[in-house]
Amino acid sequence: MAESKKGERHTKLLNNLKNGFDRISEADWQAALQYGRDYRVFLNASTTEREAVKTAVSMAEEAGFSPYTPGQNLKAGDRIYCINRRKAMLLAVMGQESLAEGMNLLAAHIDVPRIDLKPNPLYEDGELALFKTHYYGGIKKYQWTALPLALTGVVHTQSGQAHDIRIGFEENDPVLYITDLLPHLAEDQMKKKLSEGIAGEELNAVAGSRPDPEEGDNRIKLAVMALLHERYGIVEQDFQVAELSLVPAFPARDAGLDATMIAAYGHDDRVCAYAALRALLETKTPQKTAVVMLADKEEIGSEGVTGMRSRHFEYFIDNLCRAQGVSMLDCFAASFCLSGDVCNAADPTFSSVSEKNNAAKINHGIAICKYTGRRGKSGSSDASAETMQKLRAVFDASGVLWQTAELGKVDAGGGGTVAVHLAERNIAVVDAGVPVLSMHAPYELISKLDAHMAYKAYKAILG
Ligand code: MN
Ligand code: MN
Repeated sequence: MAESKKGERHTKLLNNLKNGFDRISEADWQAALQYGRDYRVFLNASTTEREAVKTAVSMAEEAGFSPYTPGQNLKAGDRIYCINRRKAMLLAVMGQESLAEGMNLLAAHIDVPRIDLKPNPLYEDGELALFKTHYYGGIKKYQWTALPLALTGVVHTQSGQAHDIRIGFEENDPVLYITDLLPHLAEDQMKKKLSEGIAGEELNAVAGSRPDPEEGDNRIKLAVMALLHERYGIVEQDFQVAELSLVPAFPARDAGLDATMIAAYGHDDRVCAYAALRALLETKTPQKTAVVMLADKEEIGSEGVTGMRSRHFEYFIDNLCRAQGVSMLDCFAASFCLSGDVCNAADPTFSSVSEKNNAAKINHGIAICKYTGRRGKSGSSDASAETMQKLRAVFDASGVLWQTAELGKVDAGGGGTVAVHLAERNIAVVDAGVPVLSMHAPYELISKLDAHMAYKAYKAILG
């Protein structure tokens, strides 16, 4: 064996797993701090998919994007967006090459687990007015009690006037509140399994306590309705056609004494959606057309007309293709998609669910997830070696710190992303996103270094 310097073969042959802070420059860290500040502003303005679309539109217009009209003639460098029913959107910067050469696509979702109001939500019981709710997405129900909750969404009056509602985010706004049992009387509750400690029908939000002066039944309920009527002109039946949600009312905050992290509601998946959006808005005239999909409904399986499975995606891409005389199927076959979704970060407190060599770590950069799914990779699109190598080459060439991720130990559970729905369309796809602690909790945790690295990674993909 040839002689080698001390450590030479270690460096050459073994993977370097240093913490990201040991690998980035001070300038990179300063850029990550600024990025974190911008991201917090986005988070606070965009708690639901509707709000995220609004914020994205104003950011896009500021960056020179305009609404797309089907049939519109487009040339390289043109910047367009297309909204799907106020809840999802596609944005594109037209490339120099024909769409027959494919597009570079980033797909992320902007819906977040939350507590929706039922169609007949308002009732009075025990001299309180309350809202009945139905949760959306995979939540641990016990985590959603005894928290400040804001009410957000849209209600139509009978005459068809739409009212956007947003109560509870400003410091002096009132909040809604789902009660929990005091420990003194929780002897039976505490014996239950965690999954049963708070039942779905116990997620009732307190909405008021003062009776209306008018004599009759349900005076407290009436008073709450009167308040909403005065403010928005709505009556009780309007709830039946409304879309109203309760979301955590606390703003995004720096976290850790060193402020290296951000705690917020809904990093999943707005941390990737924001990175994708920022990356696209900063794209000038790419070689291949650059597209960002901000999808709704991922948290409930991507079904629905605003979800990733909706043909609204084809509606937009096919229109772009036909204007160039290109078959959409040819475009799909030549395209590449990075599915930007978060993964779980290894949590030292709950290390037993992760396999330490294959779990994503905080501050190790964007995490590439070759496959998701459950059991034997079931339900996953499992990216090919060729796709993985392509991604590594792009990331390494752009100085992107990356790691790989697996969703917990084999057979410990599972999950999925929108990736499978891109693969179904014959688009090569792989997941890469930001590692999150306490995913799907009302307040999740990510690192600024990783969030910024996702943005750098997505920029590298769009070229
Ligand atoms: Mn997600
Ligand atoms: Mn999720």
